[in-house]
Amino acid sequence: MIIGFDFDGTLVDSYSVIEEAFRRALERHYGWLPLKNQWARLFTRVELHFEKPRYGRHSGRVKSPFFLRTKFARTWFEERAKLTKVLDNADELIRRLKAEGHTVISFSAEDFIVGMKEKRLRILGLYDLFDDVIVFGKELTLCEAFQLLREKYGDEVFIWVDDKPWRFIGRGDENTEFVWYYFPPTAKFVEEKRELLAAIPRLHVIRDLWSLFDVIERVKQERGA
Ligand SMILES: [Mg+2]
Repeated sequence: MIIGFDFDGTLVDSYSVIEEAFRRALERHYGWLPLKNQWARLFTRVELHFEKPRYGRHSGRVKSPFFLRTKFARTWFEERAKLTKVLDNADELIRRLKAEGHTVISFSAEDFIVGMKEKRLRILGLYDLFDDVIVFGKELTLCEAFQLLREKYGDEVFIWVDDKPWRFIGRGDENTEFVWYYFPPTAKFVEEKRELLAAIPRLHVIRDLWSLFDVIERVKQERGA
């Protein structure tokens, strides 16, 4: 099978460090600024606003909030990357999945700065663990990225793991199994609108990445593989 992992909130916790990363970036570029803690909190709120689901009016490409197109933003991303922690021993999980013969890819959205996703994957030592890295949201829309995946790997079952299940709606194909990794900071957006889950076929919910092995077993049985 092909196993595709989202990054933020799925393989790593990069959410609980957002505010601290802003504080550090402010310290570095705007050391003179008073009330840095309050500014960091405000920027965090704006950033989290961009994490919310935008149903219907999503072009598949990501737009950047103004303050993320600067040197300040680069520092913020770098600090965020340094503070980010891998979830559930994800690196070990990727190795195990590959050892069992699966094709394991990174399938996630670009950050507001092009190339930053790859850089963050490298900083955490995850980049080279993957068989492939597909980044959508800038040069490729999500749908184009999915097509690319099919062109490269054929119609094999694709297990798509993401902490934002609204991304699954209307995407994928009959050979796609959708796995929602329940990550509390983003799950709260789902809790506000639980009915959206009904729009997702073949949805599996996990709270620990290692439960993927149960999902794989179940899919094998259901598909008679
Ligand atoms: Mg995510």
